[in-house]
Amino acid sequence: SDTREHHQLRAADAANLLHPWADLSALGDESAMVIKSAKGVHVYDSNGKQYLDAIGGMWCITLGYGNEELIEAMAQQAREMVYYTPFGDMSSSPAARLAKKLAELAPGDLNRAHFTTCGSTAIDSAVRTAHYYFAAQGRPEKRHVLSRRNAYHGSTYLAASLCGKLADRTLFHYEADFVHHLASPEYDPDIATESADERLSALLEDMESEINRIGAENIACFVAEPILASGGVLVPPEGYHKATLDLCHKYDILYISDEVVTAFGRLGHFFASEVHFDILPDMIVAAKGISSGYQPLGVVMISDRIIDSIKANAPEDNPVFSNGYTYSGHPVACATAIANINIMERDNICAHVQELGPYFLSELRKLSSSPIVYTVRGHHLMACVECWTGEEAGPTERNIALAQRVDQYCEEAGVLVRPYENLCIMSPPLIVDRDDVDRIVTVMGDAIKRAQ
Ligand code: PLP
Repeated sequence: SDTREHHQLRAADAANLLHPWADLSALGDESAMVIKSAKGVHVYDSNGKQYLDAIGGMWCITLGYGNEELIEAMAQQAREMVYYTPFGDMSSSPAARLAKKLAELAPGDLNRAHFTTCGSTAIDSAVRTAHYYFAAQGRPEKRHVLSRRNAYHGSTYLAASLCGKLADRTLFHYEADFVHHLASPEYDPDIATESADERLSALLEDMESEINRIGAENIACFVAEPILASGGVLVPPEGYHKATLDLCHKYDILYISDEVVTAFGRLGHFFASEVHFDILPDMIVAAKGISSGYQPLGVVMISDRIIDSIKANAPEDNPVFSNGYTYSGHPVACATAIANINIMERDNICAHVQELGPYFLSELRKLSSSPIVYTVRGHHLMACVECWTGEEAGPTERNIALAQRVDQYCEEAGVLVRPYENLCIMSPPLIVDRDDVDRIVTVMGDAIKRAQ
């Protein structure tokens, strides 16, 4: 029976699984939530309870669950040719076709796709590409990396070293020799005590003084999410992206935009860098929504300028770009991504997000009149409600407990949001309609009232 299966699942989970970001104090407890099936914007637990998934899996489910066209694309490719090595001069039809399509969609001269298995490996690969680029020019000392506090870039050794959330700096080791964290760049006009211009100047001063301290001749790249996602949906002040790119140009530092969350529709465009933030990065990293979460896939889009230089300067006796994975450009993942892009174009998903995103945010912002809401912020379909008890703002014990109650009440009412510190984070599938958005906001509003 379902109940017996439910129990067996939880027991197996408790005995043998170590989850990503597991709470070690609960390791071995039979407390896991088991999601058993999913359709459209809803998921169902093993007791059959329905939830509206306002998290989109993990920022990644964009076209919703159980999309038959995506499933068919996966099955068809698996039947035709599930896998062959992508190394060296071996190619596959899905990888080559997807690379061509991505070059068309990506801004400027970002015409070269290097596929990886996820966002973390794409970040790793982008930084390695920056290192190779300068080393091939005879400048191997230009290897330091600028990141920011509160950033999240993934969980490989290098990607984790770029992360800037203090809470994640646990007993693991991190690369501190060549990774440096600039100030966290958020600006929220609803709670700010300074003007956007003042904040922007302070951030740029911080960046330039750090560049001068390290020495531009030692710095390879700046890695930045356009909006810091897991760090708490932190939106920088207007003009920040362009001004930081200008600083990078001034000091010959490559700009790597981490669009793992923001690309593929979440902000209403395939790539957000150019349209939303007026920048043309040297590389853009994407993952998650590229396949609507149906297959693990990441990509680094690299500019022609960088590729041309790498090719021209590669050592004659070993002109090999030794980076990549067994599953780089996996045919099933790439076929899924092609189908995903085709559906997004045919169904005008980006236009839908451009219309619904501002509505979602404006409805959600109405909740900020509650005494336990410190602020509501976001952009299109990435949003966050920050809770506080009215005393000290930020991730204090009491504020975190309050946000957990709000999350819990949402879950009881059948809406899943993502708890992080004192924040309730939302990134629903892009196919949500007005009714779904209204339901998320209503349930969140009721949960806030209940918790206050
Ligand atoms: N970069 C950003 C901005 C992310 O949000 C994430 C994951 O949440 C990553 C990179 C890492 O991606 P992945 O978990 O697919 O390795």
